[in-house]
Amino acid sequence: MNLLRPISFLLAGLSLAAGVSATAAERIPVVASFSILGDIVANVGGERIAVTTLVGPDEDAHVFQPAPDDIKSVSRAKLVVVNGLGFEGWMERLAQSANYRGAIVTASAGIKARERADDEHEGHDDHDHAGHDHHHHGKDDPHAWQDPQNVVVYARNIAAALAKLDPAGAEVYKKNGEAYVAKVQELDQWAAQQFAQIPEAKRRVITSHDAFEYFGARYKVRFLAAQGVSTDSEPSAKQVASLIRQIKSEKIKALFFENMANPKLLQQIGREAGVSAGGKLYADALSKVGGPAPDYLSLMRYNVSQLLEKIRLN
Ligand SMILES: [Zn+2]
Repeated sequence: MNLLRPISFLLAGLSLAAGVSATAAERIPVVASFSILGDIVANVGGERIAVTTLVGPDEDAHVFQPAPDDIKSVSRAKLVVVNGLGFEGWMERLAQSANYRGAIVTASAGIKARERADDEHEGHDDHDHAGHDHHHHGKDDPHAWQDPQNVVVYARNIAAALAKLDPAGAEVYKKNGEAYVAKVQELDQWAAQQFAQIPEAKRRVITSHDAFEYFGARYKVRFLAAQGVSTDSEPSAKQVASLIRQIKSEKIKALFFENMANPKLLQQIGREAGVSAGGKLYADALSKVGGPAPDYLSLMRYNVSQLLEKIRLN
């Protein structure tokens, strides 16, 4: 019997050491589908969760193909958060591959979705082409995070989902969520004040794809895009030609690249319209750490500043 004492003593010491060093490992593993959402989830979850993001900074969720590491992340997750509105056409299959049985929470649930702008021109049916399962032909425009008022809804949905998963942290999630909402509201007010100083007629912008319709509706900025609502669609020669005519006739100077989209088409359009493409907008992804948009709030501030600088020239 005496022999047991040193052993249990030793075990107690071990578990104590493990307890101290395992704080990070004990955080609840949560997967977010893309970088912007990952940042919002991390703000709401705080210290209680560890967020893994599938589509990383400067990467394009429209054409994402999950790697083995992504399957591992999802299989270990206690909660998966998606944007919804058809943005993550690949998630269902990924969750199946990972044998994931937890909840998939849609951050945009309850927002007023805009219809995708390209639906009327393209005549797509609601079907997927074989071998192109990243295509999605839903009728909703997924880029709802570009309106801060929608991100308020995202944050509250995420707080509610985390509280359901981890009731002991409910108060923390609510407090974190509302603190984040306050920052988002402040950002929104600032952006509205900035745009209010510029005549509405000047608020015209050309971008790569239709990612800014929610932003445009919020701040009365008109965005014209070379591509439709997804980067996986290609415009016809006729559409490109009509966009070039419009840039010329309306004398639009604000031409922007997007951080995660191929710049070639926009460069061509700029050349033919005689306008040099100006800055870069962060559309569907954050920048890497050290860049100008490593989190949602700085992404929005950066985009607003870039837009203001260029639309003044229109
Ligand atoms: Zn997009």
